[in-house]
Amino acid sequence: MQKGLLIIYTGNGKGKTTAALGLVLRARGHGMRVCVVQFIKGKWQYGEIEGLSLLGELVELHIFGKGFTWLSKDMEKDKEAARYAFDFAKEAVCSGKYDMVVMDEFTYLINYKIIDEKDAVEFLVNRPKDVHVVITGRGASNALIEIADLVTQMQDIKHPYTIGIKAQKGIEF
Ligand code: ATP
Ligand code: MG
Repeated sequence: MQKGLLIIYTGNGKGKTTAALGLVLRARGHGMRVCVVQFIKGKWQYGEIEGLSLLGELVELHIFGKGFTWLSKDMEKDKEAARYAFDFAKEAVCSGKYDMVVMDEFTYLINYKIIDEKDAVEFLVNRPKDVHVVITGRGASNALIEIADLVTQMQDIKHPYTIGIKAQKGIEF
């Protein structure tokens, strides 16, 4: 590997997490070791959890947190869980055990000021040079975009949800 890339999938359109999973699939095909860290519990569904487990031990999935939404009854606890998840992800990136680390829905930690943007940027910039990091989530901040090597914004043009078509297996979960 020549250079670990910082890759961001952001925007309001559907496809951010699934794009990250596409990279996981591709990397796994090369025998690369992948760690997927899920920052919002509940977003991950049976389909992707089972699907990743089929990829074997080269691909790990760690689901953290309770969601840290403003609807939560115990915001402090949720924030703590999210910070713990960030610590876990940092360790994974620095461990030398993985070629790729996915930080799914990570943008929200910065957007809701659960972690300090400066800390996140400093960590990502100074991470080991050979690890690919893939971040997903709406509203990636300017600072994240600036330090990234690859940024794709999913644009919401049409979604079946808006005409009342419910979430379907294999597409949403
Ligand atoms: P996916 O996991 O399908 O790649 P995503 O990661 O881009 O989607 P998230 O913001 O994480 O999107 O939201 C996950 C859920 O919300 C999915 O079930 C997805 O279909 C749905 N969703 C994403 N974008 C839209 C949209 N523009 N309108 C309605 N629902 C959406
Ligand atoms: Mg997502």
